[in-house]
Amino acid sequence: MQTIDLTKLRAFTRETGQPTHPEMLDTTPMEHVNEIEITEEHITVTYNERINRSYNANEIVHREWSYKYNDDPEFVRAIGKVIDLARKHLKDLPENIACPPGCAECCSGYEPFVSRGDVQRIADHLHLTYDQVFKDYVVPRKSADGFYVGYLRKVDDDIASKCIFLKGPRSGKYYCGIYPARPGDCRDFSPIGCEDVDTSLSRNARHEIGAPFMPRHRKQAHNGKRRSRR
Ligand code: SF4
Ligand code: SF4
Repeated sequence: MQTIDLTKLRAFTRETGQPTHPEMLDTTPMEHVNEIEITEEHITVTYNERINRSYNANEIVHREWSYKYNDDPEFVRAIGKVIDLARKHLKDLPENIACPPGCAECCSGYEPFVSRGDVQRIADHLHLTYDQVFKDYVVPRKSADGFYVGYLRKVDDDIASKCIFLKGPRSGKYYCGIYPARPGDCRDFSPIGCEDVDTSLSRNARHEIGAPFMPRHRKQAHNGKRRSRR
């Protein structure tokens, strides 16, 4: 059976003459801690979160305990230990800090969104018009603010397939076929801490970049020209 210590409440009433209400003492045990926030003066623990789901909205309920710890030497020592641990781990490196040669997991796992500027840069790079690039290589999907106009197509309709501009026969041999003109989304993608890295690849392997991506119609024209020489 749980006992509740009401001595402090009674003492407060005795000293101040003000009534206290024992039912306002939340005695629910702190079972599951969801979040801890520590500032220079306060520690706040969010706990016992519960989500009540409806079809159209969720009700999220949690308890929150907040304490001004900087007057409490025991707490100051405990938080000092957490800070010491943070200092100890300060120079820990993430598991991945650079892309192994030929890895392109992110070129199939994600769909890079493209802005008008991205489409124009790719068009200039491929010597095509904006409309040609948009039609052949972009799935239209305008963002709410109008900045993005869509995302780059995959080689087929499967969203998990390779980016249409990815070249190379397999992981370890992949390379971006429009690298200098790749979208801003691809430029922003960082290998630091990347969890998609193909860990089977050697970091010392030789990586050769092949021919750049060539638009289909130009390829056909090129092939046609070659054929006519024979
Ligand atoms: S390591 Fe990550 S960011 Fe680099 S190519 Fe592989 S998946 Fe992309
Ligand atoms: S444009 Fe290049 S870097 Fe971006 S997803 Fe496609 S192949 Fe990868």
